[in-house]
Amino acid sequence: MKLFRFSILLIVPILLAGGAQPQPNTKPQPDAKPQTVVIRAGTLLDGKGHALHNVLVVVQEGKVVRIEPDAKDQHVPGAAVYDLSRMTVMPGWIDLHDHITWHFGPNGRIEDKSETPSQAALAAAGNAYVTLMAGFTTIQSVGSPEDKELRAAIASGALPGPRLLTSLEPIEDPKLTPEQIREVVRKLKADGADLVKIFASRSIRQGGGQTLNDEQLQAACGEAKAQGLRTLVHAYREAVRAAANAGCTEVEHGTYATQEDLDAMAQHGTFFDPQVGLVIHNYLDNKPKFLGSGTYTEEGFAKMQEVLPVIAEMFKHALATKNLKIVFGTDAVAGAHGRNAEEFIYRVQAGEDPMQALVDANARAAESLNMQNEIGSIAPGMQADIIAVDGDPLKDITAVRRVVFVMKGGRIYRNDAIVVKLD
Ligand SMILES: [Zn+2]
Repeated sequence: MKLFRFSILLIVPILLAGGAQPQPNTKPQPDAKPQTVVIRAGTLLDGKGHALHNVLVVVQEGKVVRIEPDAKDQHVPGAAVYDLSRMTVMPGWIDLHDHITWHFGPNGRIEDKSETPSQAALAAAGNAYVTLMAGFTTIQSVGSPEDKELRAAIASGALPGPRLLTSLEPIEDPKLTPEQIREVVRKLKADGADLVKIFASRSIRQGGGQTLNDEQLQAACGEAKAQGLRTLVHAYREAVRAAANAGCTEVEHGTYATQEDLDAMAQHGTFFDPQVGLVIHNYLDNKPKFLGSGTYTEEGFAKMQEVLPVIAEMFKHALATKNLKIVFGTDAVAGAHGRNAEEFIYRVQAGEDPMQALVDANARAAESLNMQNEIGSIAPGMQADIIAVDGDPLKDITAVRRVVFVMKGGRIYRNDAIVVKLD
């Protein structure tokens, strides 16, 4: 094994506690030179659809500084070298639609009235941890005001978790006038929302009919734009086209969208985030834990079962729609956290090209967040959000289940890749 040609080599057992591993020092001390970290990548997917082979990614102070060929006897003085030469390295994934606080309570069900606030907070922190460990370095959580404290805790470094963007409370009340909707948007902005989440349709368990009319949608998306906020619209059927026409940033779900609805999104440059498999399968797999709460009735579950082939068919049409900007979001709820990457597998099984599916969760997702100059690709100047999987996801998409390395902002949170070389 060529790994042993290094003079000083630390073999780190795969399942040792993360704290036993040398961590790159991303916060420079007054007298210390910034630590340089080098990642040797056997295959590097750059996040924009290109594959490079045998390269070194050089990271300093949390950012990628350069990528260079992995020449023989290459030596970067003073660098900690992480050998991922047998892995596929790529940018950390972005999940544009997550419900990071959703969890099953101590009673094992979605609703548990005896749950304490600290139990709920710990469950959310646990969700953030497993999501990061699964390779997701940025998520957009849509619909819970509790996200705000979690966002702050993760951003401060106190808790391990993905970069968190949140919409706080969603806008869903069809009784609000356009002027009241505008006011709600301004309040969300003042409260620190990163985006606005809007429900323009009922739940799919209730048939998915449109709830907000065109005027209400225009008020929500128009005011958000004026406030510099993006909009994410839960929409089925004709609400898809209404959201595109109203200039909203992104449409979620899109079940029962017609070709004309898909064309309307392409024409308006609306990002489209279909949930192809994970969310519905997760509900069906965990049915006893949801059943009996809110819209999770026997009828609702029958409806979810019924729409699976409808979604697959719609997704095929979406893939074939010219200029439609498809992005990646899972709608992860209780039971799905840490399994977000399953959505890649469902997408590829439904006909999407594996490289494109990965780009949807990298550069394309970053573009939808207007963060394409910070995250979503591996290039000089970008945040060092870098993950690796064991295997080649382009040949076997199930490799996305085997995340062995996670770096966020230059800090390593997971390294099961065994070899660390220090010199
Ligand atoms: Zn959702």
